[in-house]
Amino acid sequence: MSIVMKLNATKEQLAAVIRKIESSGLRPDVSTGEFQTVIGVVGDEKKLDFDQIKMMPGVYDAIRIQVPYRLVSRSYIRKDVVVKVGGLSIGGDNPPVYMCGPCSIESYEQLHRIGRQVKEAGAHILRGGAYKPRTSVHSFQGLGVKGLEHLKAAGKDLDLPTVTEVRSEADVETVAKYADIIQIGARNMFNQDLIEATAAAGKPILFKRSFAAQIDEYLSFAERMVVSHNRNILLCERGITPLGGSFKPATRFTLDLSAVPVLRRETPFPVIADPSHGTGRRDLVAPMSRASIAAGAHGLMIEVHDRPQEALSDGAQAYDPRKLPSLIRTCNLLHKAISEGELPFSSDLYDANGQS
Ligand code: PEP
Ligand code: MN
Repeated sequence: MSIVMKLNATKEQLAAVIRKIESSGLRPDVSTGEFQTVIGVVGDEKKLDFDQIKMMPGVYDAIRIQVPYRLVSRSYIRKDVVVKVGGLSIGGDNPPVYMCGPCSIESYEQLHRIGRQVKEAGAHILRGGAYKPRTSVHSFQGLGVKGLEHLKAAGKDLDLPTVTEVRSEADVETVAKYADIIQIGARNMFNQDLIEATAAAGKPILFKRSFAAQIDEYLSFAERMVVSHNRNILLCERGITPLGGSFKPATRFTLDLSAVPVLRRETPFPVIADPSHGTGRRDLVAPMSRASIAAGAHGLMIEVHDRPQEALSDGAQAYDPRKLPSLIRTCNLLHKAISEGELPFSSDLYDANGQS
């Protein structure tokens, strides 16, 4: 349920609605917008008398939200969420942002060298993994805190905000100290304790869709962040499990590009696409980057390495930094072209004063 207060509703009227929700054993989530206050409900809504709420003084309307991920739906948060990182604004009508860098942080020198190239190419955010989720215990596991130190130093020296993955709840506080955006990886999309702990750290979160998650499952886990009072969520499509069969799949994952407009329509959050993990192939990064922007992505995460043969992880999908400037230029042109048409993503249910 989304309870929309009248523009002229008093504090007492709002407090009465909150009391009503709490006395039914539920938790209110109050969102104070520019014009209106909207209240969401956490818990089993069947315990609330919908008609009674509708008749309370100061209530403009109460709408039932049909989807299970109520608090991340556009029926509840009706304006596009723009996530601010440093001086950057991500989402809404803003131009695309590019988060680029190596899969793994291997040394300060490597990260700074690649970081300088991606910055010159037009990237806005430096990526690099310090805690790597790896299938094999024999693979490079990441540099841990040392890697975080390199990331923070390189970000500062290059004047770029940073993003890195947190793999364990135990590391949330540490990662939050070093990075500007905390990534929750595809393998942890279902980890509710990690999600809630990360949300509580208060930093923006790049939340990757699991390769095995339906959209409604994905958004239900994203909803936990809103309930933990963090709306600075960047959703990220990074590919789903490819079809099996007798032949080796052509791509590492299947980048589900329809997820981009679906997420934009369903939710107000910025949507990022990751064509690197989505394909696993450097020759497919450019075409799928262009397709992602054309589908409405607010940004791209692209793995870049200038010496892919030496990369300690994901060398096969590492994009050549020399090719990055023209890819970013083309993507920006594409974004401009599609922005001139109609982008039917938002669904404002009420006019600004909520009175009509
Ligand atoms: C990554 O971005 O380095 C990564 C491991 O991504 P994913 O969780 O999408 O596999
Ligand atoms: Mn990687």
